Amino acid sequence: MSETSKPTLHPASLLAHGGGGVDPATGAVVPPIQPATTFARDANYRLISDSHLYGRDDNDLVRQIENLIAELEGAADTRLFASGMAAIAATVRTVKPGGTILVQSGIYWGTTSWLRKHCDHAGIALIEADAADTARFCETLVESGPSLVIIETPSNPWLTVADIAPIAEAAQAVGAIVAVDATAATPLLMRPLSLGADLVIHSATKALNGHSDVLAGLVSCRDADSDAWSFIRTERHDAGAIISSFDAYLLLRGLRTLALRMERMCANAQVLAEALAAHPAVEGVLYPGLADHPSHAQAKAQLHGGYGYLMSVLIKGGGANALAVAGRLALIKRATSLGGVESLVEHRHTIEGDATGVPENMLRLSVGIENADDLLADLTAALAPIRR
Ligand SMILES: *Cc1c(COP(=O)(O)O)cnc(C)c1O
Repeated sequence: MSETSKPTLHPASLLAHGGGGVDPATGAVVPPIQPATTFARDANYRLISDSHLYGRDDNDLVRQIENLIAELEGAADTRLFASGMAAIAATVRTVKPGGTILVQSGIYWGTTSWLRKHCDHAGIALIEADAADTARFCETLVESGPSLVIIETPSNPWLTVADIAPIAEAAQAVGAIVAVDATAATPLLMRPLSLGADLVIHSATKALNGHSDVLAGLVSCRDADSDAWSFIRTERHDAGAIISSFDAYLLLRGLRTLALRMERMCANAQVLAEALAAHPAVEGVLYPGLADHPSHAQAKAQLHGGYGYLMSVLIKGGGANALAVAGRLALIKRATSLGGVESLVEHRHTIEGDATGVPENMLRLSVGIENADDLLADLTAALAPIRR
């Protein structure tokens, strides 16, 4: 009887059950929300429950999500934060003043923008380098000797798929740790820790929750005994960027359907990318699932089960045409963010300006779970008035 090992479940099965069983006390198949911020002690001043002291420290729902994500990532440990940026900030703060950070260029603008301000304030050297050319990125890594390397794969909005394994190897040689922001892939398409990354970060605000109604972030580690992890754990425990119980509940509810949503989102995205690439009003489509994307071969090797739900579309005739196309979309909503069940379009140049080299004629699409024909009809109608 001692040999009865737990069967290894596929990610979809783990997710469908929210990583949990039934509540032994009531038989409830979903966990309760715990709103209490403080927990009582008995007459001998002992905590009634050792694992319940104060709401900021810990929470059963938070723990359940952390365990579920750790299992999906193949991680030694995971911490849930109040937002993706809080997760990134905790990771970045592992670097002390006087240190160096190497970050991939052309990534999520919120990360780049905050990193520039933080590093300037904290006296940290920040080096930004393109990760599409692995050899050159690794050269920069070895030359600059950073203590932290941050890459985002696939990247937003260029959909560059950085080659994690050789970057992790180069980092290890100079004693740097590698953090991968894998928000656009989710743990279903890519597991960076198995490729040698030290930390993997997600904005759970995006596909993990999937319903555009929760802000959340995650950091997972390969080595729970590392100094970096000890710092990040303390940061989450003491620095206050904790998710509310209500939001944790919504996140766990969203996670239950992640596998289904990702399947549909990736399938829809592939259909749209191929159709848009062939459209006469479109100059080009950046989607790693297309054979002509510079990262296609790398994506094929590193992503499993789909090429993601994000793409950037370059509209013929410049920025005014791109904005006009966005303005004519009826089903696809004009809004920032990504990974929700509803498709969204964004004109990144309006937000970033000329600072990051995002072209004016670029529209970034986050593809949702709608019917693909409806999405395509919406895009086709919006593109129709453009003179070719
Ligand atoms: C949205 C996003 C973030 C920031 O996450 P928030 O939850 O909005 O704080 C970080 N990285 C990537 C790739 C993102 O898309």
